[in-house]
Amino acid sequence: MKKFILIFGPQGSGKSTQAKLLAEHLGYAHVSSGGMLRDMKDKNVPLSEELSKYWLKGELVPDELIQRIIFQTFETSKDEGFVMEGFPRNLLQLNAFLDFVHAHDWMIVRAYYVMVSEEECLNRIRKRIEIEHREDEDEDSLKKRLYDYYSKTVPVIEEFEKMSLLTRVDGEDTVENISSEIKSDYDTN
Ligand code: ADP
Repeated sequence: MKKFILIFGPQGSGKSTQAKLLAEHLGYAHVSSGGMLRDMKDKNVPLSEELSKYWLKGELVPDELIQRIIFQTFETSKDEGFVMEGFPRNLLQLNAFLDFVHAHDWMIVRAYYVMVSEEECLNRIRKRIEIEHREDEDEDSLKKRLYDYYSKTVPVIEEFEKMSLLTRVDGEDTVENISSEIKSDYDTN
């Protein structure tokens, strides 16, 4: 039975770093929907041109497409456990994911919310824009992504809270402290 752990947090929260550390700790695969889209573009996968029209501007890619990519990854992977970030990002994707997991008799074990204030996120990403020059990061795209985050992804997080699967962690602590908090919560849950 495949197991899923989900990591949520706004842009700049460090959710990707935390997902990687937890995946390493558990020997699970790390899945990042945004990372998959960027890899597809780097490898010139045929569909990637269509997809990058959206994400390069900071817009969400169509649900059907991202779902197809993500679900196919899980169905073909030999891994038994996944730490995923970036998906599901809205309620439609959440419902599709719940149905998908259910249909396979798989299991969502836990969800973590790395909490960072909007102001701190903006500061962190503005610094990242100067250093990394990620293709989809400029002020305009950042604003769109944060808007989508608060209006579409926060309701998804609230659903995990209702399912009693959510743990919130303070994302303004050090990387090590946040990681130990997540690991010890997971190990004791
Ligand atoms: P961030 O969370 O910092 O915006 P990500 O790496 O998670 O960065 O995502 C980069 C881009 O990939 C998003 O702006 C969006 O266009 C696209 N994307 C990633 N995941 C999804 C998803 N689940 N649904 C729709 N689009 C997505």
